[in-house]
Amino acid sequence: SPTVRLVMFEAADIRDQFPALQRQVNGKPLVYLDNGASAQKPQAVIDAIVHYYGRINSNVHRGVHTLSQRATDAFEATRGKLQRLVNAEFEHEIIYTTGTTGSINLVAHGFRSLLSPGDEVVVSQLEHHSNLVPWQMLAQHTGATLRYIPILADGSLDLDEAQRLINPKTKLLAFNHISNALGTVNPVVKLTEWAHAVGACVVVDGAQGLPHRPVDVQAMGVDFYAGSAHKMYGPTGTGMLYGRTEWLEKLPPYQGGGEMISTVTMAQSTYAGLPFKFEAGTPNIEAVVGWGAALDWMNAIGMDSLMAHESDLMTYGSERLTAIDGLVLFGTAPEKSAVLSFGFADLHPYDLGTLLDQQGIAVRTGQHCTQPIMDRYGIPGTVRASLAAYTTVEHLDALVDGVQKAARMLL
Ligand code: PLP
Repeated sequence: SPTVRLVMFEAADIRDQFPALQRQVNGKPLVYLDNGASAQKPQAVIDAIVHYYGRINSNVHRGVHTLSQRATDAFEATRGKLQRLVNAEFEHEIIYTTGTTGSINLVAHGFRSLLSPGDEVVVSQLEHHSNLVPWQMLAQHTGATLRYIPILADGSLDLDEAQRLINPKTKLLAFNHISNALGTVNPVVKLTEWAHAVGACVVVDGAQGLPHRPVDVQAMGVDFYAGSAHKMYGPTGTGMLYGRTEWLEKLPPYQGGGEMISTVTMAQSTYAGLPFKFEAGTPNIEAVVGWGAALDWMNAIGMDSLMAHESDLMTYGSERLTAIDGLVLFGTAPEKSAVLSFGFADLHPYDLGTLLDQQGIAVRTGQHCTQPIMDRYGIPGTVRASLAAYTTVEHLDALVDGVQKAARMLL
């Protein structure tokens, strides 16, 4: 029978800190297993946002008045926390964006002036659309060629093919740290070494990496690393781009406007230094402040404990799900993060997801913004249960019971 190691913290206690998790859905206690799409927010994050609007709301970097200075301090404090989180060498290497999508588009747009026909951009088949479509647009704009690393049956990248594809024409390599659809953890250091050996720039989509793994951009050696606050217990609408200084200096600004300039005349402008060159306009201050509280919350638990907790649950969940007759688990790579993606040959994932919702179980169904992965397996989509700090063994039991019940009704 499945084994459960002792978890290093009580997920049930953590759960009490999340107001949204206390509610019922369709008359049943909520079992929230859609954390890959967006995690719930602890009271500490909600309190930080309420405090911001109730006490210090003001624009940042603009006024000498007290509120503006306090807002600026709170806003900039999160930048320091992010620098420490990813171990960036300099604080100015952390750019606030609207999220992972915004971060990747910033880099892709900047590369318009750096690529020409004959250059190659390598991505992987394992990407979220937000780490694929911007590169397709870049290739169309510049005449560069887009190549992709295929995935193997277990959902890991075909590394032999990757090594063959990365060549002196490669100017940029983009891939995710962790796949949102299958949970595969990619070998960031190895891929980065191969890309750097030919002088290519490395962009890592860390949307699923930051919530589930320690990230050290200097040890990894990457040039860019992107993330979203809302997947790490923080607010929506904000994210970060880590960029190595030399690359951030090489890229032109993404958007023009207030706060990103040094001087402006009617004829032309000069730009502000890092990070402000990439932060035009009034940012999502409230969300950045709330993100700071989310980072404190994650730090208090500790990434080691989080990983041990999720690893225990993954072992348990995989064993219980694969014991269900006819169920196929997609993504069985040796190193996986907190995602259980599955389906049945004769059952549309949407139908399964609808029946689970009736039992109060929130999962994501469909392509998960990764249509090429679904095409690779020849399926319309999967049901995806994605875990977080507050997930318990009982939630996975509820999922297994729910899937069995739904399969009995539908098959
Ligand atoms: N990349 C991955 C791997 C993701 O899981 C997601 C979100 O699902 C994104 C990128 C896009 O993130 P956002 O919608 O926050 O920009």
